[in-house]
Amino acid sequence: MRRYLGATVAAAILLAAAVDGVQAREPEEGVKVGNPSYLRKLVPAETLENAALQQYTALKNQAKGKNALAPESHPQNIRLRKIARELLPHAHKWNPRAKDWKWEVVLIQSENINAFCMPGGKIAFFTGIIEKLKLTDDEVAMVMGHEIAHALREHARERAAKTTLTNVGGRIIGTLIFGGGVGEAIGAAGGNLLTLQFSRSDELESDLIGMELAARAGYDPASGVTLWTKMSAASKGAPPQWLSTHPAGDTRIKIIQDNLKDVTGLYEKAKAAKASGTPMPTAFPGAEQRLPVIKEPKK
Ligand SMILES: [Zn+2]
Repeated sequence: MRRYLGATVAAAILLAAAVDGVQAREPEEGVKVGNPSYLRKLVPAETLENAALQQYTALKNQAKGKNALAPESHPQNIRLRKIARELLPHAHKWNPRAKDWKWEVVLIQSENINAFCMPGGKIAFFTGIIEKLKLTDDEVAMVMGHEIAHALREHARERAAKTTLTNVGGRIIGTLIFGGGVGEAIGAAGGNLLTLQFSRSDELESDLIGMELAARAGYDPASGVTLWTKMSAASKGAPPQWLSTHPAGDTRIKIIQDNLKDVTGLYEKAKAAKASGTPMPTAFPGAEQRLPVIKEPKK
């Protein structure tokens, strides 16, 4: 009987521990954003990703032609790819497709203050944004996280879908998806995926998700504040290209500050893991086994 009781107590403790464990995991850490827009499903993800690949390739070729595509060995290129490699294991939480994306990072030698991540994980930074704003690693991670978040949440796809609806009005949805509508939509919304402007709510969402990606990778999420302060200061002269698609302002900084508490714990944990050289906690189990492919510098 005693043994039975003992076993029962042990089982109860185990159960309590298990429940405890569940409870400890349950209130999921991180920023609070809603579901991605269902509207985006009107346009196939592949359509946008293919368009992005074409435009990204064209951009790289154009840059190469002007001798502006930074070599793989460029210190800033190496720096960008290191940061990307740290952020990307945390990306899949936001979009399961992302694990199959062929992530790419390029550095364009241009004075423009600009950076973007196109659908399908095609990232580009201009030297202007890094050098003119003297971005710290934390700030680079915030810019990159923000841009990656646009791609993960498929904001371009959402824009294309909305434009499809607005432009084509009453046409049957089937023809939008399989007929010419998609082309029209991309022509209108994503025609130039490089200069696409997103809605305020998309911007806010990307700020928050970007902040979480940076925090999970051990980059200080509070650096969003210094980033936007630098960006605003830079806009006093000729407004940076990035600002034309990413309006700065005090609201933005305030929202970042108000939401920092949601990612501070993640940042502290990741920072400690980084300092001790232990593997970084990933966004969900198994993510570390599915590390994204980033084109390695040529030896
Ligand atoms: Zn943005």
